Amino acid sequence: MLSVHQLAAFNDNYIHILLDEAAQEGVVIDPGDAEPVLQAVAQHGWHLTEIWATHHHADHVGGAPKLQQKLGLTFSAAGSDARRLAGIDRALQDGDRLRLGRYEAQVLAVPGHTSGHLAYWFEDERRLFCGDTLFALGCGRLFEGSADEMWHSLSRFKNLPGETLVYCAHEYTLANARFALSVDPGNPALLKRIEEARALRDKGLPTVPFRLDLELETNPFLRADRGEMAKALGLDQAPAEKVFAALRKLKDDFK
Ligand SMILES: [Zn+2]
Repeated sequence: MLSVHQLAAFNDNYIHILLDEAAQEGVVIDPGDAEPVLQAVAQHGWHLTEIWATHHHADHVGGAPKLQQKLGLTFSAAGSDARRLAGIDRALQDGDRLRLGRYEAQVLAVPGHTSGHLAYWFEDERRLFCGDTLFALGCGRLFEGSADEMWHSLSRFKNLPGETLVYCAHEYTLANARFALSVDPGNPALLKRIEEARALRDKGLPTVPFRLDLELETNPFLRADRGEMAKALGLDQAPAEKVFAALRKLKDDFK
């Protein structure tokens, strides 16, 4: 099995380390800070080989230069971000395939949060590393993309197998739950999910990763194509993009 380790960084970021221990290869995804990675490597004796970035924000790539320098890692990121992200060794685009020992990931371009945002999809292992595109019960803010683009990006995830484990880059679940409840208060799956998330957080445990099929039933942003969500927003018969845009706007203004 592909082994995945989660490191906490800053207030609520997650850095993920993926290892093929037999092949002595390892990838760190979104090292916003080098220190927790260097500490974990020293503690466990892991052999890392690469950095994969989902997008150019500092809380995702801030630790990359130090890790390149100290551990000699190769830095892969969106080619379209090369003008604003220094030190890229390998420029990625949609459809590229990346190897990690015996495992292979597909690069998915998922613009919306940023224009160059990427996700990494391990089809055989059913694992998705999606940065700030999809969160448990939420989705990323639209800093550089339109609602249409983000809906299209999220729709790519919606088509992945339900058992997929989603690794997003922030622990936002309980904050997102408040908004989800405000727009979808009668959803029993959502109520149950929030209880489970609260129980995990009360024990200091992460709510990431999470299963995609559960997300499809509980995340209002992924449910923008459901009639009941359109109806709840007074947008009966509106196309999903429109419902999604309305949800995103409501969330931006949500206190
Ligand atoms: Zn971001």
